[in-house]
Amino acid sequence: MTILFDELLACDACANAIANGDYEGYDAGEEAATKRGIRDWSREGDLVLGDEYGFSWRGCDCCDNGLGGNKHYFAVLGLEVRR
Ligand SMILES: [Zn+2]
Repeated sequence: MTILFDELLACDACANAIANGDYEGYDAGEEAATKRGIRDWSREGDLVLGDEYGFSWRGCDCCDNGLGGNKHYFAVLGLEVRR
């Protein structure tokens, strides 16, 4: 495994979707943005959720909502050899 991208920040909605693959209770725009973010990152490698980061004004690196809020670390891992 190789870490392709590290110390990315995901909002609560994206963190939940990365961890559980679950979109229950999301509004339509939030669900679409979250799915788009995860799909784009998934082209690079596997998304792995890390520790909670806490509050940050930095926008979400997954759905790109640009909003401050509670954040969680996530990383994108790649396989050394892709077959
Ligand atoms: Zn997000």
